[in-house]
Amino acid sequence: MNQPLSNFQMRDAEALLHPYTDAVALRTTGAQIVDRGEGVRVWDQSGRSYIEAMSGLWCAGLGFGNAELVEAARVQMERLPYYHLFSGKSHDTAIELAEKLKAMTPGQMARVFFQSSGSEANDTQIKMAWYMNNALGRPQKKTIVSRKKAYHGTTLATASLTGLPGNHTDFDLPMPGIRHLSTPHFWKEAQEGESEEAFVARLAAEFEALIEAEGAETIAAFIAEPVMGAGGAIVPPMGYFPAMSAIARKHDILTITDEVICGFGRTGEWFGAETVGFEPTSMSMAKQLTAGFVPLSAVAINGEMAEALEANSGKIGTFGHGFTYGGHPVGCAVALKALEIYERMDMPRVVQAMSPRFAAHLKSFEGHPLVGEGRSLGLMGALELGPNGRREGFAKPGKVGAKMVGELKDRGIIARAVVDSIVFCPAMTITEAELDEVFGAVGPALDATL
Ligand code: PLP
Repeated sequence: MNQPLSNFQMRDAEALLHPYTDAVALRTTGAQIVDRGEGVRVWDQSGRSYIEAMSGLWCAGLGFGNAELVEAARVQMERLPYYHLFSGKSHDTAIELAEKLKAMTPGQMARVFFQSSGSEANDTQIKMAWYMNNALGRPQKKTIVSRKKAYHGTTLATASLTGLPGNHTDFDLPMPGIRHLSTPHFWKEAQEGESEEAFVARLAAEFEALIEAEGAETIAAFIAEPVMGAGGAIVPPMGYFPAMSAIARKHDILTITDEVICGFGRTGEWFGAETVGFEPTSMSMAKQLTAGFVPLSAVAINGEMAEALEANSGKIGTFGHGFTYGGHPVGCAVALKALEIYERMDMPRVVQAMSPRFAAHLKSFEGHPLVGEGRSLGLMGALELGPNGRREGFAKPGKVGAKMVGELKDRGIIARAVVDSIVFCPAMTITEAELDEVFGAVGPALDATL
């Protein structure tokens, strides 16, 4: 039985349209109205506390309270609360952050372009690839290759890159010029008796076949998350990205690593691309860039791209792209402080130290009648539910996952269901005791879901 809605829940339902929400069901269940946060916990309006095992939306990697980040924002707001980077304007925080990102990122990134969100970063990537290929006199090289179950955002172009049906249905998407390859999820997608090597070879052959069929001269870029996040924390076989990178390199296809979730230590290295052997020509970063405290995203591009973009802007008189809040001084100041904290803590090492415990917890449920796979890389992972652990999933996809998330909530844990995968991405600062508390609730929640 649902409780009667609180005053705030009724006002919420009357005033807001929520992203990724069934607005009709919300009128009965009511929104969970979160009031404050501290450490890995948030409190709702009734005063009940929860461990936020998803860092909000994969972003609050330092948890929900941090005096240093607050102070960095305050100082910047007092000195220069707003400025922009259009038409040759700049400010010192953006310069310092761009230098810092150039120094941290793999693949010798040469220039950094700022936006506010992950979607804007990936939209920028597409526009840069197109602008570059026009500049290089190959206007037909425009197709962007993505993957099924990828998540790259919700603007028209990035929702098209996203490989999840819900992002396309009734939005008249995807746009033309986008292709989706298979998902590199060995447990779910491998054929009967197929080895991991053979699975990788099959996916690489699929990429080669697409290039062969359409012509390398029409394909601009391959975009990928090192670990698919919103598709269900899907960890690729370790041979997958080296194989895909080699194919892209051979055919002069850009390689865009979407580090919006995987960046800044989450996978146990500074960037997910480093963990999985993806060789990027450009990178998208957001979320943990500011520990989620304020919006900021960044695109880093290599020297070859930078040279082509800069030369063309000289020829036609502009690089006609940008966002009012791209490189916002407060965002840059908070990002600089977040990076300083990550470095001081040696965040990749912190994640490496905690991740075996996280992985062991997830694996420990694999014998449960409702669990198919417990998977993770670094501190992002998932429990994939299925009838008697079968990988085909349930007859009504999403119902069991939603029930499980409700059971976890009743036990003081916030997780997320991607259809029937329950995803976890706790703050990278989570303690062993807090991690044990999260997974202590999972067993009883699974039993109650059965
Ligand atoms: N790329 C990835 C990998 C993401 O996970 C997300 C959001 O979850 C995005 C892009 C889009 O970011 P935003 O919601 O900030 O536009």
